[in-house]
Amino acid sequence: MQSSALTLPIEKNASLLWKECLSIIKENVPSITYNTWFLPIKPFALDNNTLKISVPNNFFIEWIEEHYNTLINKTVGHVLGAEGKLAYVILEEKPPVEERPINTAQNNHTPTLISLKKTRNYETFLNPRYIFDNFIKGEGNQLARAAAFAVGENTGQTSFNPLFIYGGVGLGKTHLIQAIGNKILEASPDKRVIYLSSDVFTVEFVEAIQNDNVNEFSNFYKSMDCLIIDDIQFLIGKEKTQDLFFQIFNTLHQSGRQVVLSSDKAPKDLKGLNERLISRFSWGLSADVQPPDFETRVAILKNKSFSFGISLTNEILEYIAQNITSNIRELEGCLVKLLANSSLNSKEIDFDLVKKTVREVSTNKQVNISIDVINKVVSEFFKMEENKLREKNRRKEVVFARQIAMFLSKSLTKSSLKTIGLHFGGRDHSTVIHAHACIEKMLSSDPKIKEMVISLKNKIEMSVV
Ligand code: ADP
Ligand code: MG
Repeated sequence: MQSSALTLPIEKNASLLWKECLSIIKENVPSITYNTWFLPIKPFALDNNTLKISVPNNFFIEWIEEHYNTLINKTVGHVLGAEGKLAYVILEEKPPVEERPINTAQNNHTPTLISLKKTRNYETFLNPRYIFDNFIKGEGNQLARAAAFAVGENTGQTSFNPLFIYGGVGLGKTHLIQAIGNKILEASPDKRVIYLSSDVFTVEFVEAIQNDNVNEFSNFYKSMDCLIIDDIQFLIGKEKTQDLFFQIFNTLHQSGRQVVLSSDKAPKDLKGLNERLISRFSWGLSADVQPPDFETRVAILKNKSFSFGISLTNEILEYIAQNITSNIRELEGCLVKLLANSSLNSKEIDFDLVKKTVREVSTNKQVNISIDVINKVVSEFFKMEENKLREKNRRKEVVFARQIAMFLSKSLTKSSLKTIGLHFGGRDHSTVIHAHACIEKMLSSDPKIKEMVISLKNKIEMSVV
């Protein structure tokens, strides 16, 4: 019998070939990795000697490429033969995907990313992952979800126009407002729906001014059946953009078309936004999203872990839900990290790994961090003796390092300002407040300092795990 490694088995179809690839991959990676990253990939088509496989999103490709590039190449070579190639296809992933190679390695089997653009002549920017089916209901999002669902079902015919969803970060606003768009298109693919964040809207508007096509720009948005704008708070301080948005809003609203907005605050609290916009926002319905309660957190974790292809015991789910309480993005982050920790180290997910991971991502971790640890990590970072920060030394670089250490102590420990001040050279609480304010200011104005502080935070957290 001839080996399939030498000639391309053209009589085989895509699904058989991919099955063969999978069986090789399965032998060579931990089962958790296999289930998470390879099983969700589906064979798409066999085009000459190129096997096209569809992946859920770009992230998958990047992850696989980063960690399993060699394995993939070898496998493809083995199954498809020397001329065989692999191409990834992402179905409706945003941002718009162009046909482009995603790997620069000089390798025959280097996969290519193929675009499956829809026939519409603009990009909706909707992420197909954000749908109502995978949005878990809870007390904190009940009204917002119900209203969003109604708008998705009867666009422009409810009195929820505009629908204004507001609340803190990571609580599902983007998910909900995009679910509306996806629902509308599912029932009526010809409807014109677009999603964008208000800062993207602003950038495009500025470009339109520069290119002298503001009319075209505004007519495009006026042509929508449903306009979804995320994070509307970014329009604050941008008067001209607000004016244009006001016009677009009026046109859409007057002709019974839907506007959906999200923001970090309720309309009345959007200080700095034009009053006439604020008043229009209250024409429809404003609904907030609140942090999820314990039961909802467990339900979300259950659902997400299922979709990641892992099954966790109730004990583990509850442990995570008890310790990560602030928002859903963090819950999700914890699961992703858990998967990464487990698959990269080929470790099964046991309670120890869960505890370690929760500790890494939990915002409640400050209980374990001491000022001493912070002093040590910051001194090491600035290549100073540990004592320097505890002395009254006023050299510029020591003062700066000390301010950073004070800032981190205030953010990461539960110590009082007085204790922090005493630790760093017997200073009083007002010095700590001042240091905190200085660094906070720098964080928002200097990306380098921000990066440095984040890296210090990570180092500190790692050193207490
Ligand atoms: P926000 O826009 O409010 O900052 P996102 O919509 O981006 O939050 O949500 C953060 C992450 O949490 C997303 O991946 C989203 O899918 C997920 N998420 C938020 N709320 C829920 C929910 N109720 N059920 C399932 N997933 C959720
Ligand atoms: Mg958002």
